[in-house]
Amino acid sequence: MLKVTNIGKTYGKFTALKNINLEVADGEFLAIMGPSGSGKSTLINILGLLDQSYTGEYLLKNKNYKTVSDNFLSRIRGDQLGFVFQNFKLLTTYNVYENIEIPLIYSKKEQNNKRELVEDVIEKVGLKGKEKNRPSELSGGQQQRVAIARAIVNHPNLVIADEPTGALDSKTSKEIMDIFTKLNQDGTTIIMVTHDSEVAEYAMRTVYIRDGRLYNDEKSVKKS
Ligand code: ADP
Ligand code: ADP
Repeated sequence: MLKVTNIGKTYGKFTALKNINLEVADGEFLAIMGPSGSGKSTLINILGLLDQSYTGEYLLKNKNYKTVSDNFLSRIRGDQLGFVFQNFKLLTTYNVYENIEIPLIYSKKEQNNKRELVEDVIEKVGLKGKEKNRPSELSGGQQQRVAIARAIVNHPNLVIADEPTGALDSKTSKEIMDIFTKLNQDGTTIIMVTHDSEVAEYAMRTVYIRDGRLYNDEKSVKKS
């Protein structure tokens, strides 16, 4: 799915990422863990094609998007990637159905079965009957279900989730992780940032970031 080779990132004199190497296979479910300020957001912003100012090489599906136009980039993001955030980022004046439909409206993919695609993901995340509700009428867990449905309605290659359970209690977190698990079993590649080791257990593999460096297991973190 993607390959990161020797990526570095600085903010002025501050080194946020150093010598990052990472490969994620099609169909993987990867968790990225690390303390606050370690570089997790910086890394997934690069993986999500939201940040193009880095050194090293990032290939998504064997393609390098480093020098393409912003316009082209947002199209690639819309067609190939789905994003889920800690705070859901739903449009408050839109109802559930309309929030989930948004990526299809902006997509350049040929899509003449929009209604079917939206209804299918609503079913998948367990929100049937809530189509007409506004986000403010939903619980946090339900809002995150809407966000997941919106992220997958376009059938992206890769879903990137930044602390998807960070605003949820542990019971609701488990429900959300069950949805991610099912999604992954259906073939979607997932990269998830989390602080919560119980949440990371749902992933197939966990990598750790400390001070902008990536480690493949806890032991190598402790040794360093
Ligand atoms: P995490 O997601 O692990 O909390 P971030 O990737 O957000 O970490 O940040 C990594 C480090 O880079 C932090 O020390 C943060 O303060 C710094 N940083 C992040 N974004 C910027 C920025 N736009 N300008 C300057 N420093 C930044
Ligand atoms: P997260 O909760 O995902 O770790 P943060 O709250 O650390 O995110 O950062 C939110 C945004 O603020 C990030 O996109 C990052 O680029 C920016 N940011 C973080 N630290 C700094 C900083 N020291 N200076 C400027 N911008 C920063």
